[in-house]
Amino acid sequence: MTDTTTPTTAVTTTVADDNVSVEGVPTGLFIGGRWRSASGGATFPVRDPSTGEVLAEVADATPEDGIAALDAAVAAQESWAATPPRQRSDLLRAAFDLVREHAEDLAALMTLEMGKPLAEARGEVTYGGEFLRWFSEEAVRIGGDYRTNPEGTGRAIVLKRPVGPVYAITPWNFPLAMATRKIGPALAAGCTVVVKPAELTPLTTLFLVELFRRAGLPDGVLNVVPSLDAKGLSEPIIADRRLRKLTFTGSTPVGSALLKQAADNVLKTSMELGGNAPLLVFDDADLDTAVTAAMLAKFRNVGEACTAANRFFVQEGIADAFTAALTAKVDEFRIGRGSEEGTTMGPLIDDRAVDKAARLVDDAVSRGARLVTGGQRVDRPGTYYAPTVLDDVQPGSDILTTEIFGPVVSITRFATEEEGIRLANDTEFGLIAYAYTSDFARGQRLAERLETGMLGLNTGVVSNAAFPFGGVKSSGLGREGSHEGIEEYLESVYVLTPDPFAA
Ligand code: NAD
Repeated sequence: MTDTTTPTTAVTTTVADDNVSVEGVPTGLFIGGRWRSASGGATFPVRDPSTGEVLAEVADATPEDGIAALDAAVAAQESWAATPPRQRSDLLRAAFDLVREHAEDLAALMTLEMGKPLAEARGEVTYGGEFLRWFSEEAVRIGGDYRTNPEGTGRAIVLKRPVGPVYAITPWNFPLAMATRKIGPALAAGCTVVVKPAELTPLTTLFLVELFRRAGLPDGVLNVVPSLDAKGLSEPIIADRRLRKLTFTGSTPVGSALLKQAADNVLKTSMELGGNAPLLVFDDADLDTAVTAAMLAKFRNVGEACTAANRFFVQEGIADAFTAALTAKVDEFRIGRGSEEGTTMGPLIDDRAVDKAARLVDDAVSRGARLVTGGQRVDRPGTYYAPTVLDDVQPGSDILTTEIFGPVVSITRFATEEEGIRLANDTEFGLIAYAYTSDFARGQRLAERLETGMLGLNTGVVSNAAFPFGGVKSSGLGREGSHEGIEEYLESVYVLTPDPFAA
């Protein structure tokens, strides 16, 4: 087995049009503290979605490699769990500092492999890095409990211990943040990790793991296995009884299939799945606030976000003004490569994503929606779709039940608060909702009645490492971030002792 070169230099990402390189980014598997090739030596290409150009060839982990990574995580589990919390905290903090130091490298890398404009990639470095700082702070605050039992005859101690080796599967849309949201709390809790990044965007995670190595990561505590065959790699890992936790971020159908596999061993799971976010604009909303917030809620990451507003419900009295103001903003987008100066919207991730957006728009229009702007592919190399606004989207349109994952606004008008809430809740998903109103009591009613894990009230972005991120219904199980995030990687052990004062 040949070793892939361990990178010794900082990453150099060159993003000029005709000179794309990602020198210094590791392209191997990281198992047991060293970079190596896949067994058999297979690799797969990672492409720039704005050109289709191959950026790098990355080691393609086999199922045997996956088990080797689990072996390494299992071997390191006991000593990592016994490592003083302050040391675990210090490692996360050192990794956070390196992420900050390499913020521009990470941002450029994400822009290259995922396509988002540099400004957005920089935002993700700030957001994603924050999970390392937050959980470095949480590592030293893991609690416990000591109580008298209700009968007064005994004392209960509840202690927390790490659940054990973790398998983390992440998506391509936020390549850094989705990894740190899992690695941060798992390592803080004392769990070792095997991470499988999305095959479309593995480079950011590989570089992140390299930063952990430079921060002093003990062997086996964090391992990374990119693979083209996600199912083939994952099944044996999930079936292995030494694995104690599966944490997944991705689509609901894959999450549901993984839950079925996890059921065999009654494996502890966290699932951050798809969304179909409603965005409600009430007549009493401040128009400027609503438009500015809605633009963020819809178009951040070209709409390729689980939190993206999918269904706009706009009350009749404000609908014409809102649609006109929103469309004016939509028409200001500058489409281009994420690395180009002035670009405010990059490409979609691949051809399938463009086909999906086009199909949903065509279906809505064929059922009576009015195309206000956009509605076509962009005539340039790469996978671009024009930012689009549809008004009067009719019931029964696929766009109302499908996660769009693209730059398309779907507006339906409603009359009363009751109707708005009913429409918003008419979905199997419940990750996030947005509502714009200047009536605080209405905001409170919405918070109590919308079936959602998160609500953006008069705002367009809620993600923050300090608060619990996650969904209800088919949007998932568990929470990431906040003090709740670390609980996903801990289990309670309850110890009962006799009353120490009893004779
Ligand atoms: P996806 O489900 O296709 O893939 C996610 C990950 O799962 C990838 O690493 C992929 O390789 C892997 N995977 C795919 N099939 C697998 C299988 N059979 N066994 C094991 N692993 C498998 O999702 P995606 O297209 O990468 O991401 C987009 C989806 O993720 C959207 O639905 C979005 O809403 C969701 N998402 C949710 C959150 C959240 O926090 N709730 C955040 C980001 C994205």
